[in-house]
Amino acid sequence: MSKIENGLFLCLSLVMAGNISAYAASGLIINQGQAFKIVYPEKALLVEKTSAEELSQYIRQSTGARTEVLSENNLETKDAADAFIGQCSFTKEQGSYVKSFKQEEFMITASEGKLFIYGDDGTGSPFAQNTRTGTLFGVYDFLEKEVGVAWIWPGKSGEDVPNRKTFQVASFSRRDSPRLYYRGFKFSSAYKESKEFNTDLGYWFKRMKLSWIPQAWFGHSWGNYMTKTGMDKKHPEWLALWGGTRKEPQYCTSNKDFRDYIVDQCLHNPINKDKWIVSVSPNDGYGFCECEKCRALDPANTDYTSDIPNLSNRHWDYANYVAQEVKKQRPGLNVGMLSYTAYLSPPTNIATLEDNLIVSLCFSASYCVLPEKKKRFYEDISIWKSKGAKFVMYEYWGMHYWLDLPFIFTKQISEFMPFIYKNGLIGMSGEAQKNFSTQGPNYYLASHLMWNPEDNSEQILHRYYDAFGPAAKYIKDYYDTFESSILENQKCDFAYLQLINSWPEIFPPKTITKAEDCLKKAQDAVQGSPIHAERVELVAIGFEYTKDMVELLRIYRTLGRAGVPLWCFGCQGALAEMSYWKTLPEMPASWTQYWKQHPDEPISHVEKLKLLRRAYDLGNARERIVNEYADRPIVSLGMFNHFKTKGLYPWQQTIKQELEKEGITVEADPRQK
Ligand SMILES: [Zn+2]
Repeated sequence: MSKIENGLFLCLSLVMAGNISAYAASGLIINQGQAFKIVYPEKALLVEKTSAEELSQYIRQSTGARTEVLSENNLETKDAADAFIGQCSFTKEQGSYVKSFKQEEFMITASEGKLFIYGDDGTGSPFAQNTRTGTLFGVYDFLEKEVGVAWIWPGKSGEDVPNRKTFQVASFSRRDSPRLYYRGFKFSSAYKESKEFNTDLGYWFKRMKLSWIPQAWFGHSWGNYMTKTGMDKKHPEWLALWGGTRKEPQYCTSNKDFRDYIVDQCLHNPINKDKWIVSVSPNDGYGFCECEKCRALDPANTDYTSDIPNLSNRHWDYANYVAQEVKKQRPGLNVGMLSYTAYLSPPTNIATLEDNLIVSLCFSASYCVLPEKKKRFYEDISIWKSKGAKFVMYEYWGMHYWLDLPFIFTKQISEFMPFIYKNGLIGMSGEAQKNFSTQGPNYYLASHLMWNPEDNSEQILHRYYDAFGPAAKYIKDYYDTFESSILENQKCDFAYLQLINSWPEIFPPKTITKAEDCLKKAQDAVQGSPIHAERVELVAIGFEYTKDMVELLRIYRTLGRAGVPLWCFGCQGALAEMSYWKTLPEMPASWTQYWKQHPDEPISHVEKLKLLRRAYDLGNARERIVNEYADRPIVSLGMFNHFKTKGLYPWQQTIKQELEKEGITVEADPRQK
């Protein structure tokens, strides 16, 4: 909030305090201890009833009013309630009543001492992602904007509810709806997280007004259309011509019979039943068709020897054709395709894309930390836009590459989301982990911008930090320290190998020291304020993890380049990883090149032993934090266990084996103690 706005707000509050009686007549007042009756319709949907209960819970908690929730038909007179939630009969009698709503739209009216909240609702569980819950969103919007509640992360400790003896608001009406049809986080490891966390997460999603309503599919589709139906065997001539023979996994996208078959699948394959967007995406992997007809669609100078040649023209020509034919037969059905690998770039041979063709983009605002990458992406988006493209975006807010480290990029999120929204964004989701302690500001900001990408990012973040009470400033400084450090020091590309070897530079010791200093001030500031202390503590555990992890990654790098076979940290590690991935015919060129540029650096035996012991202790500390706080939104146990179960990145195991080779016995797994 700017200084001027702050000043204005203050004046308004003073006016309010002096004119309580005026507000009673025109707006809404709730006093401590007062009875506050909340009703839902006689034949209420579960969403409407739950919305009334949610409103009751937070009004009671904030104001101390004696709230009561009941069905409208239990009222003595039709207007004998303070709040009417959902499609109440009395609401329908109001002159301002709105009859029809857009998807998940809501209306809030505070007038003459009464509150009305209702919206676009559907049947089903109020906390399911695919239930339309306009009324519930209206309640949360009111609680957030008027009452001042914030839910900075899932669970009780993330609920910031202001205490006030008197709540008052001037008469107002607000109608709002999401700017995006889809808004979601994909917690890829949630299935391995605790039941408590998953329950909290379900509530938090709705409080962030996230949902996944119209059914859409963008995934690799040909396996379903071709392999599962046996059509790959029936029509081998539709397979991609590759190395002289027709073979899987790709198909000859210039073949008209194949295209028409895909049109038919869009319309009739059971997987597409009730879908709003159906997928025509190619299969994953490479092996794209080398026939003359396909190649004739590629740009004249296409370099077929490169790792990923640009085959956008042929693929988008195929998708555009399918979209056009689908539209003829079923107007309103959309066709979606991933913008991915060889068909990532916008095509040059199509002036205008069909209006029912939806492009699914995978990209992260975090990449925009690198100016070159940002420039290229922004240019591509402008080209897509000039062709009338509509996007559904897949983000990487909490990518597992960060290993739960505080990769804060709120500046990029703030800039990127309104930009892509202006250029045709209709839906968005992104990866996340249970790491709210280290990534919380990213998630809070992104979820709010999914509702309205043009909302004020500074105010959103201000509210986030405000939940830390007297420590707000220091916690903001703490996260800003990491964000600035990234902007200053992140030089490498976002390939896993490069990134994992760069953490000691991205978060150098001075960054860690500065963050620790901010945290210390925050801890001092919240003494005597238990709820704020609890939130700061949650951040502090994430810091302990971060500090250990950055040191650990630095040691892995030193040991890896001294010949210890740690995955991703040296030639020996690369060979160890190769033997795990038995399907890899030879070492990927990017690895060979990277290790040529970063050759081994031997260390003394004494130094090696010292580092092995330290790495072992830090590895145990990491595992202890991950397990000890399994139920709290701190760092991700699910991701950790996912990799452990699969035997991926077995760093601690390698360290242990190396110590044993040196004749040093180490303690058992800390969890078994
Ligand atoms: Zn072909």
